[in-house]
Formats: sequence, C-alpha cells, structure tokens
Amino acid sequence: MQPFAYARPDTLTEAVDLLVRHGGDARVLAGGTDLVIRLRDGSFAPSVVVDVKRVPELAPGILATGDGGLVIGATTTMTEIAAHPVIRRDLAALAEAAAVVGSVQIRNRATLAGNLCNASPAADTAPALLVHRAVVVVAGPDGTRRIALDDFFVRSGVTTLAPGELVAAVELPAGPSRMASAHERRTRRRGHDLASVTVACGVDADGVVRLAFGSLGPRPVLRIDESGGLGDPATPDDVRDRLLEAMLGDARPSATSMRAGPTYRLAMLRIHARRALARGLERRASGEGIP
Ligand SMILES: Cc1cc2nc3c(=O)[nH]c(=O)nc-3n(C[C@H](O)[C@H](O)[C@H](O)COP(=O)(O)OP(=O)(O)OC[C@H]3O[C@@H](n4cnc5c(N)ncnc54)[C@H](O)[C@@H]3O)c2cc1C
Repeated sequence: MQPFAYARPDTLTEAVDLLVRHGGDARVLAGGTDLVIRLRDGSFAPSVVVDVKRVPELAPGILATGDGGLVIGATTTMTEIAAHPVIRRDLAALAEAAAVVGSVQIRNRATLAGNLCNASPAADTAPALLVHRAVVVVAGPDGTRRIALDDFFVRSGVTTLAPGELVAAVELPAGPSRMASAHERRTRRRGHDLASVTVACGVDADGVVRLAFGSLGPRPVLRIDESGGLGDPATPDDVRDRLLEAMLGDARPSATSMRAGPTYRLAMLRIHARRALARGLERRASGEGIP
C-alpha cells in the first residue's frame, strides 16, 4: 500500500475543502469495505484519504420527511437499512438488497452511499434504489444539488459526481417511490462475492412495473413498463414472458468476467426477474408497499 495522509474533517465544509484542494488525489473513506481493498492492491493510490464518518451532515440515520418520504444519511450502514421498519414495509426491495450485501461484518460497516459511489455494476442496492426512484443529494463547493439515481451511474467506478463533490444523503421521495417491490440475486458464494445477477422489481397501484438489474453491463439498468400488462396478474404467462423479455434486452454481460459467462447470466437474469416480478405482484395484492 502506498503511504497517504489521513484526514478526519469535523464539518462538511472542511470535507469539501479537502476534496477541492486535493482533487483526484483525494479519496473519501466511509465504511472502507471497497476502498481499503483498492488501497491495498494499489489500484487506488490517493495522497489523502478523507474519512467522512465524523461529518454531522453525513451522519447515519433514516429520517421520515413530513410528506412521507425518507432521507438516508450517507454513512448509514446496510445493517441499519435492512432492519429499519419503514424500509422493510414500504421499500422491501431495498431492505432485501441491503440484507444480502456481504456478511454480517461487512454489512455493519458498508454504507449505502459507498455502495453507490463505488459504482460497481453489481452493487446490490442500486437496482432497488432505481426501482424506488431514489435521488442522490450531493454536496460540493457550489452547494447542494440533487441527481436522479439513473443519472448518477456512468460505468464501473465512474459516476456523475464532479470534482470536490461527495454524496451527503439518498432521498426516497414520498408518493412516486412507493411500490410493492422485491429483490433477487445470484451469487457464487454468499458473503464473499458480488452478485452475478442482481435484480429488483416494483409494481405500483396502477400496474406500472419498474425493473432494474445489475452485473449485466457497465452500469445498472432501469426499464419501465407502463402498458399495464406486466403489472396485471391475469396476463397470460406467454404474454408476460414476452413483455419481460423486452425489458431485459439491454443486458450486456461481459464475455470475460471471472464470475459467470454471458449465457449463464442471461438465463439467471430471466429467472430472477420473473421471481422478483412475481413477488412484487404478490406484495401488491396484499397491499404491501403501497400507501
Ligand atoms: C467480502 C466483501 C463482500 C462484499 N459483498 C458485497 C455484496 O454482496 N453486494 C454489494 O453490493 N457489495 C458488496 N461488497 C462491496 C462493499 O461492501 C459495498 O460496496 C459497500 O456498500 C461500500 O460501502 P463502504 O462504506 O464500505 O464504502 P468505502 O469503501 O468507504 O467507499 C467506496 C467508494 O465510494 C467512495 N465514497 C464512499 N462514500 C462516499 C460519499 N459519501 N461520497 C462520495 N464518495 C464516497 C469512496 O471514495 C470509494 O471510492 C463486498 C465487499 C467485501 C469486501
């Protein structure tokens, strides 16, 4: 590991100043479950690591807004998200995704913002957050701005964060984020490996279906079906399969990945997308996730 300076700012202004001053030579440290590996293997060699765990504006916490939305602080861990009663009730796919990230030890440190900022195409919370219309709250030298999550990912390891910016929170807006949802994944070794396929699906009260998947291309993909066909439990299986297949058309699994070959991944995507849809439909039928 190359030596680096360690900074632990007490305010958001200080944290942003450090990121502005050091530019691409600075790296934010949250839980460290991705970053420390990259420091050790030398693929990241920053001159300064900015530990943001003492910054009050990024503190862990899941706050309900007056209108029924949620704001999740940047350093909130997977353990806290998976256990939160409102997330389990109203954003089931997110609770399920957080609950399968790594092992207990990883989930106790891994943060939601870290999962998004690391920008792995296999990040488990990304599909669930895309389905639930998450918005990323970004703090930087010019103040705060909000980015719809679908506009946040570019490709593996790259986001639309500008130099000097960091993620302060993730918002789940009240009405539109509410869907009956489910998360499904395939992995070689639970607790030790990223997903070969990670999928979330949500169905709203009008039968609109939002389906997002990861680990099948350079970034997570979101597709929306507004025809009502996928969201109608009475739709014949062959019609539903055709609609679903059309949603999966943008899957581009890597031909060289060590985790799984493209044919296997595409087959698993079909199975897990179908399962996630079926569970979303069941939940909607029992009134879960929809106010
Ligand atoms: C054994 C093991 C198993 C794992 N299993 C899974 C899994 O099943 N599913 C899964 O999705 N992931 C998995 N991971 C990856 C990792 O745990 C998650 O991506 C985690 O959520 C990262 O969060 P963190 O707080 O540890 O991020 P860190 O490692 O601290 O940071 C990750 C990256 O994001 C940047 N960053 C962090 N916070 C911010 C911020 N607020 N603003 C701007 N940039 C920021 C950092 O600079 C760094 O580049 C696993 C990792 C390990 C080691």
